[in-house]
Amino acid sequence: MTAIADPVPDMAADDRPVADTPDTAVADRPIPGEPAGARLLAGSPIAAGIRDQVAGDVEAFRRRHGRRPALAVLRLGTSPAFELYARQIVRTCTRVGIEPRESRLDGRRSVARVRQRLRELSLDPDVSGVIIQQPFPRGLSLGDVVDALDSDKDVDGITPISAGRLAMGLDAFSPATAQAAVEILDRAGRDLEGLDAVVVGRSNVVGRPVAQLLLRRHCTVTICHSRTRDLASHTRRADVLVVAAGSPGLVTGSMLKPGATVVDIGINVVDGRIVGDVDADSACAVAGAITPVPGGVGPVTNAILVRHVMIAARRLAERETRARRS
Ligand code: NAP
Repeated sequence: MTAIADPVPDMAADDRPVADTPDTAVADRPIPGEPAGARLLAGSPIAAGIRDQVAGDVEAFRRRHGRRPALAVLRLGTSPAFELYARQIVRTCTRVGIEPRESRLDGRRSVARVRQRLRELSLDPDVSGVIIQQPFPRGLSLGDVVDALDSDKDVDGITPISAGRLAMGLDAFSPATAQAAVEILDRAGRDLEGLDAVVVGRSNVVGRPVAQLLLRRHCTVTICHSRTRDLASHTRRADVLVVAAGSPGLVTGSMLKPGATVVDIGINVVDGRIVGDVDADSACAVAGAITPVPGGVGPVTNAILVRHVMIAARRLAERETRARRS
């Protein structure tokens, strides 16, 4: 990806904190039934603010270029989890005026065909960004195909180029969920600089990029994972704790530093209910602020994704203009 300063200040490189505005500020509400001081860091108001901003930018783009930004959603097979996510993405795109485009490869998919489709989408001037179904169906792996995607269209930060640029502190699309977690923290009312941050989880799509983004905010970052010895000894030191393990109730109140800010990225279904990786009841009694599940990181993730599509559309339009001039 070419490092281009984004001409729209509020949509500039995601690594900079975005200033709070009344409609993007975190809802500062006590958790019902909880006498303790944990504030609820609700994602919906933040998401609404981001969507409003993107909708305005999409309209300006349409007036200037005579077309809308478009997001291709590449489906590789049947995945109920991805179907749900894809429906939410399509809905969010529609709300802000971005054109969602379905691209389907079930049935005859193979590494060669997925690579070919990614190349086609990368070259298609009407496609601004591409998101690929994950996890991959059996027989396919991200590593086999991902380099066929133009990193300028990598709006969910999955290519090695995006990850490498993020790790180097350069301008890059970071995975939307990781970006969402950190943008919630940006608005949580604490200066992050110098704080001890602990991230539980080291996946390429969530844990690692969260850690990179927190490093950019000048936190002192510890990454924990399934082989970490004595997880609680780490989490108890955390001023900021981000949990993305996919393990319901992994972190309880007794594992928190009093007053800690907790972002729970986990999404698990237990007895038909969606719960996070943090035991909300016990955590609320100790934490200073915490994201709810559902309703925390999830809504912000979709809003960040459409913001990335808008940024990609502008950059591609600039690239086309430069190519025409040269
Ligand atoms: P993943 O690829 O399975 O990675 C889980 C990570 O957690 C791994 O690094 C694993 O360690 C670590 N881990 C697992 N059990 C642990 C334990 N007991 N103690 C410490 N670390 C442990 O999952 P993911 O894709 O990162 O997703 C994580 C969670 O976030 C899932 O619940 C997922 O549904 C959710 N999610 C939410 C959103 C959203 O928008 N809110 C988006 C994406 C994902 P090892 O590396 O050692 O295996």
